Amino acid sequence: MLLLEKKAEMEIYAGIDMGGTNLKFGLVTDEGDVLFSGASPTPPNLKLLLETIKQIWKILKEEATSRIICLGFGLPGIFNRRAKMIHRSPNYPGLNGVPLEPLFAQLVEVPFTIHNDANMAAYGEFLAGAGKGLKSMILLTIGTGVGSGIILGGQLWEGTNGFAGELGHITVNPEGDSCKCGSQGCLETEVSSEKIVKNYQQLTGQQEPLTSEEVYHRARQGDKAAQTAFTRAGYYLGLGLASAINLLDPEKIILGGGVMKAGDLLLQPALREIKKRSYLFHYSQCRIEPALLGNQAGFIGAALWAGSKFS
Ligand SMILES: [Zn+2]
Repeated sequence: MLLLEKKAEMEIYAGIDMGGTNLKFGLVTDEGDVLFSGASPTPPNLKLLLETIKQIWKILKEEATSRIICLGFGLPGIFNRRAKMIHRSPNYPGLNGVPLEPLFAQLVEVPFTIHNDANMAAYGEFLAGAGKGLKSMILLTIGTGVGSGIILGGQLWEGTNGFAGELGHITVNPEGDSCKCGSQGCLETEVSSEKIVKNYQQLTGQQEPLTSEEVYHRARQGDKAAQTAFTRAGYYLGLGLASAINLLDPEKIILGGGVMKAGDLLLQPALREIKKRSYLFHYSQCRIEPALLGNQAGFIGAALWAGSKFS
């Protein structure tokens, strides 16, 4: 007897993650394995952005070996899930209040989702990265800004309106610098790469133009002011994380982003502070580990988020 078995067509999801410098995009399996990835510079205005998305979508379709089921967008800014638009994007004001859904529908012929980029990165790490198998975790990405997303009970915690997980904008220093969000002394303003440079400039009394990488290299070579610049940022990172641990008692806190490459320079003072300020039992149960997906977390998460809605 002849047995015929038709292999189910592999489901492919697409994701586009919009960052300040690049749009990262790719195709993933339903497990989050990357089949194809690419990047394109983030254009300066909405009109060019839509044009770029159109081109990216064409590339994704050309690269797909089977049908793309759906597409997920991760966008910077405060996402309003009811209105399906970015309420306010400090880093890309061109998105503010724009009805994105009908615009994207003109470009893409498969079902799609729109969400905040940091939430999508957290969802990616949760399903395909350092959060695999967990029920609760927080992702914190520290770079020029601080992005974060929260998973609770095996679900992305979106909040009532969609903008939950803004750990970068909790106050850790009441007298700190002004933040783009309108507040001051946010975790973002105290631990970002820009602040590490500013700390160093204040400590040395010199205004030489520097990057946080240069401060990092100086710290590694024994420059005390450079080391202190990181210790200060680590202190505030610890304050923020201790509050998050006491509030949510997560299984893991996953740390990613360019600034985390500083490793112990930032992490040791942060851990000291967490130990001091979180309930000891919570702290001993919560693992603090590096992210695994790097800058692909956003598009992987966006793709899997769309997959969770439309497959
Ligand atoms: Zn803020």
